[in-house]
Amino acid sequence: MNFNSVLDDVKIYEAGKPIELVVREYGVKESDIVKLASNENPYGTSPKVAKRIAEISKNMFMYPDDSMYELKEGLASKFKVASNNIVIGSGSDQVIEFCVHAKCTKDSKVIMSKTTFAMYEIYAKQTGATVLKTPDDEHNLEQFSKLYKENGADIIFLCLPNNPLGECVDKEDVYNFLKEVSEETLVIVDGAYQEYAAFKDANKAIDPSDLIHTFPNAIYLGTFSKAYALGGMRVGYGIANAEIIKILHKLRPPFNISTLSLAAAIEALKDESFVQECIAKNFEEIGAYETYAKEKGLDYIPSYTNFITLKLPVEYISAQVAQELLEKGIIIRDLTSYGLNAIRITIGRKEQNKRVIALLDEVLNNLSKAKVFD
Ligand SMILES: *Cc1c(COP(=O)(O)O)cnc(C)c1O
Repeated sequence: MNFNSVLDDVKIYEAGKPIELVVREYGVKESDIVKLASNENPYGTSPKVAKRIAEISKNMFMYPDDSMYELKEGLASKFKVASNNIVIGSGSDQVIEFCVHAKCTKDSKVIMSKTTFAMYEIYAKQTGATVLKTPDDEHNLEQFSKLYKENGADIIFLCLPNNPLGECVDKEDVYNFLKEVSEETLVIVDGAYQEYAAFKDANKAIDPSDLIHTFPNAIYLGTFSKAYALGGMRVGYGIANAEIIKILHKLRPPFNISTLSLAAAIEALKDESFVQECIAKNFEEIGAYETYAKEKGLDYIPSYTNFITLKLPVEYISAQVAQELLEKGIIIRDLTSYGLNAIRITIGRKEQNKRVIALLDEVLNNLSKAKVFD
């Protein structure tokens, strides 16, 4: 059967492995499994949200409020924007999809960093657009600028901080770059980990309202999946000037957020102290990985997120390290598919991190011993 030929060049997104798979395939007890592969909040959902979900579940037979009035009001007051500056997606992933489909045709160009969130390329290629990547793995705005001057672009993706590496460009540098960009180019500022970056370093914080009022061609994306601990609920949002938002609504399917998801996001916004406590613990715990990496002589990227990326020396193969950890019940992310010999570990709770570091050490030691006997 023939399909749209642009899909020939589209890769299938490789999601983090589920706990159920490790139980099924490796016979590890569910209680022994540590899942730190998808940058979820390891402290679970706020108890207030869980309570709200129990109450709202009686409304499951009804479609949700498609205007998403209350959620937009909540976001509008948090970010000091108007409701018509906001579009809600089934995860911010869906907002990326709206943006790409609103802007791109097969003649379009899309600029992104070499090693960044895999969905940017997938959505871009679904339209047949050409993807242009900067040479460095980490975001380098001089390279973005050069690539843009040489080629132009319909969309520029900036991931601030960047997944899967964890680095984050300073706000001032972002603004200086955006001054060079034409009003015709949509700049997507993906702030999936902005709550973490803003906590660690005020120079990295992007204020969505200031961004869109300074650069009317920019859209800020946020998600409830990471710091807000609602990955399973699939809620994200885009903040942009009202004209952009109006166009994106043409692409939004009706009721794209479920009744439960909507209620969960509304409630999560009211429990900011839970979010800030989780972020504080995240940065206390990240130190354990940094200390271990230093001891072991592993290179790591200073992280502004809830994960850390460890670059492995050539004597180890990241896919093998990830596989051996998986068989011990530790689910992390191998970055081979990004062309890197590296692993990405979501920062877990203290006891999880201890276990991951102990088992990682065991795996690395065994692999280097195996080498000696080769
Ligand atoms: C997790 C993530 C998202 C969005 O996740 P959703 O669950 O779809 O909201 C977007 N961008 C980056 C860089 C991410 O890591």
